[in-house]
Amino acid sequence: MLQAKTASSQKGHILVHEVSKYYQGLPALKNVSLEILPGTVTVILGPSGSGKSTLLRTLNCLEKADKGFVQIDNEFMGYTLKNNKLYELKEKELLKQRIHVGYVFQNFNLFPHMTVLENIIEAPIVHGLLTREDAIKNAYELLEIVGLKDKANTWPKQLSGGQQQRIAIARALALSPKVMLFDEPTSALDPELVKEVLNAIKKLASLGTTLVIVTHEIGFAREIADNIVFMVEGEIVETGPSDTIFQNPKHPRTQQFLSQVL
Ligand code: ADP
Ligand code: MG
Repeated sequence: MLQAKTASSQKGHILVHEVSKYYQGLPALKNVSLEILPGTVTVILGPSGSGKSTLLRTLNCLEKADKGFVQIDNEFMGYTLKNNKLYELKEKELLKQRIHVGYVFQNFNLFPHMTVLENIIEAPIVHGLLTREDAIKNAYELLEIVGLKDKANTWPKQLSGGQQQRIAIARALALSPKVMLFDEPTSALDPELVKEVLNAIKKLASLGTTLVIVTHEIGFAREIADNIVFMVEGEIVETGPSDTIFQNPKHPRTQQFLSQVL
């Protein structure tokens, strides 16, 4: 019998339980377990190919775990629980479940045929969460947070990469997610545009949304993270409070990685 292991009154509690994922028989995640508390900021570090993106994508079921499970606020991602049995969700129900887990891609993925405002109000209206009027009001508040209130009626292609990424963040926030996932949100940006996106993410952290971020921006990680997860070859080799990991990494691979980037 599967049962939710922990309960929390705050939203955005993530539990990863013994998750494995294979691609063509090769493991990308090997028995990964992790708990992320509501309102915390977790940064996932590790060399290329270590499974960071795969882990992030299993959190909102963009990838389905081959073994184990992910729970967000006691809900099984990709499944519904009936009479103590898990049943796989159909695509439509899965999309509904994903509403609560915002995902920001490396390459922004804004809808090119919609203005900035339309990009932000689309999902909350389609999912019936807000009336058009409220969605627009909400969108302006979000644009204020990411510092782009004057761009509401602009087309994505008229914006810089950094501005597009900030719009993508506002768009994800428009669904009031409990959790926001970021996969290398600044890696496609010119260096001078990185800071504005990182500042927008820092602002979110101060609002109390649970954030999980894959990034190679070590200075930013150090500044924003409550906890660090360090991955090597599909496994979490070290995890703990940011200060501890940065000041006193225990695992030789973490030590090696940090000595190269700090
Ligand atoms: P990271 O984000 O840390 O660079 P990934 O999670 O993207 O690592 O990849 C982990 C491993 O899984 C790598 O060996 C990668 O080649 C493999 N992998 C990831 N996605 C796929 C896929 N869609 N098909 C086949 N192999 C994949
Ligand atoms: Mg990746």
